[in-house]
Amino acid sequence: MSQTNIESMLDEKRVFEPPFARRDNAHVRSMEQYRELCSRADEDPEGFWAERAVKLLDWFRPFDSVLDADMQQADIRWFSGGRLNVAYNCIDRHLTRGRRNKAAIIWQGEPEEDVRVYTYQMLHDEVCRFAAVLRSLGVKKGDRVSLYMPMIPELAFAMLACTRIGAVHSVVFAGFSAVSLQNRIQDCEAKVLVTADAVLRAGRRIPLKNNVDEALRQCPSVEKCIVVRRAGVDIPMEAGRDLWWDELAADPELDAVCPCEEMESEDPLFILYTSGSTGRPKGVVHTTGGYLTYAAHTTQWVFDLQDDDVYWCTADAGWITGHSYIVYGPLALGGTSLMFEGVPTWPSPDRFWHIVQKFRVNIFYTAPTVVRSLMREGVEWTQKHDLSSLRVLGSVGEPINPEAWMWYHNYIGGGKLPIVDTWWQTETGGIMISALPYATPLKPGSATFPLPGIDAAVVDAEGNAVEANQGGYLVVRRPWPGMLRGVYGDPERFRQTYFERFAGMYESGDGARVDEDGYIWVMGRLDDVINVSGHRMGTAEVESALVAHPAVAEAAVVGMPHAVKGESIYAYVTLAADEDESEELRAELRTWVRKEIGPIATPEVIQFADGLPKTRSGKIMRRILRKIASGETSEFGDTSTLSDPGVITDLIDGRLELT
Ligand code: ATP
Ligand code: MG
Repeated sequence: MSQTNIESMLDEKRVFEPPFARRDNAHVRSMEQYRELCSRADEDPEGFWAERAVKLLDWFRPFDSVLDADMQQADIRWFSGGRLNVAYNCIDRHLTRGRRNKAAIIWQGEPEEDVRVYTYQMLHDEVCRFAAVLRSLGVKKGDRVSLYMPMIPELAFAMLACTRIGAVHSVVFAGFSAVSLQNRIQDCEAKVLVTADAVLRAGRRIPLKNNVDEALRQCPSVEKCIVVRRAGVDIPMEAGRDLWWDELAADPELDAVCPCEEMESEDPLFILYTSGSTGRPKGVVHTTGGYLTYAAHTTQWVFDLQDDDVYWCTADAGWITGHSYIVYGPLALGGTSLMFEGVPTWPSPDRFWHIVQKFRVNIFYTAPTVVRSLMREGVEWTQKHDLSSLRVLGSVGEPINPEAWMWYHNYIGGGKLPIVDTWWQTETGGIMISALPYATPLKPGSATFPLPGIDAAVVDAEGNAVEANQGGYLVVRRPWPGMLRGVYGDPERFRQTYFERFAGMYESGDGARVDEDGYIWVMGRLDDVINVSGHRMGTAEVESALVAHPAVAEAAVVGMPHAVKGESIYAYVTLAADEDESEELRAELRTWVRKEIGPIATPEVIQFADGLPKTRSGKIMRRILRKIASGETSEFGDTSTLSDPGVITDLIDGRLELT
């Protein structure tokens, strides 16, 4: 096996210059400009953010102070005294500024012929109606509303309607089970739940309302359940509790104007439970002024969103990515956001590329897991379509391995488009570390540099910045407007999780290293970092080396206790469709990793697996793999966010002993 085509992260030296075309009107046009913005933000952070907040948003009342924060006390307030409304900023103000008839949301349903386009005026009317419905049901400022819905426009309407009346939404991804839904509703004590009869997915109708009925058996806070008719399936409706969306919205008595509530900058905007890769989900709380400023700011700079763009983020609105980059960021800027109900591989693996061509998408933002799965299907699917409308590509969710990066760059980007690899978290509200498409020279697999104003650093256990290429803790040393303001109902968990380890810093929980050129390489969660004979290794780097082997489709590595080395590496490997498991291949993969990273990274055990345990957002749950590797066959903790619980039994059956 030739070593020349190995693409892993440790020896990734290629640099891709940003495109020179279209630079003149880009929001950030060069590295010089990027550096100027950084200096400006470092010298006067409050001035920098105040300027962005005033430029990007309309405030009913100007703020009195920019930042009041004590990170050690977990007390953070942005734009105090300022009053604003999110729906007003995302909709109403655009009506009088020439965007009344512009497409706000282009919705592509799962069936090809299901397309709906909402102009800002139409969006306004839909959101006002539903806001009035919520008000008529007694929902008031500060009340929580849970949303458990497919990717249909009504989900965006419901989110925006909540913000219009000052209710706090909590979106629960529709792929979650009844138990997960129940936990999340109970945690925030929602008064109303909005849902749909069923979800359309890969040509099937997957019932949703029955999960709701099961969940609501033990959710006394929920007074009303509003149901969207999406799939037209027969479902039981509980009298007095369940109401149809379309009937409520058609009520002629409704106040169709529904004025916007004037919210304080620090009033809670939404609660979102993290995806659950590492244990009991946390109800991350975001507030109004800072979050919206940050969502709009990052959408504008990182994607270089322009007025005539069609912008498509493929995430589900049930994740923070959908909140910030399908709904709030693009709409606050008056952009056109495409929303897709279906999956990338149905009815065929070119569905995404078909949609790109159909709507002439300009900006496309997806996850490495999607890229890897489409890459496996072969390039004939991408070549069927005209992708020439694209100009910026994005990636989020986990480190993108160079192999997938190159495929994305070559086959989707025609070998010339910038890829913004965006590092951030539910907690950060928006993108923190990312290239700017017309400024930053790219290195495949690196999220590159912190955005201006973001003081991200890699530090050792004492909080001191580490030297080049030394791994450490990824932290943020200065507050930013989009940061979370709490863990719902648990201030102590909030303080402990994020602010306790390093005085005056935000701890992300991820590990990273900075190379000699200042590029940041995120290594994955610190809980997942493996320590072999004192050498700390990120899972991302070992996995990246494995995935670079042509026979490997996907890989996950974890540490397992080892008497001599402390830990040794246990690798789970899913093979490409046409590959067979064999001892030869196992040996070859071990050699491959050894040559690539070094003997220290050689997997002690390689288990071939048909599937890996993933969260509903497609992230590998390594804590479960760690337990299986160490011989545990029960007590997997909270597995309610697992997308396919069946894989666990298969993995336990296939477990290999140390030889
Ligand atoms: P939980 O916190 O409940 O375990 P989670 O961390 O998966 O779940 P998210 O907030 O959706 O929930 O994901 C954020 C995490 O995803 C980051 O902390 C990081 O580990 C990973 N991540 C996201 N984007 C990138 C990226 N571009 N590069 C590397 N890692 C990324
Ligand atoms: Mg997390």
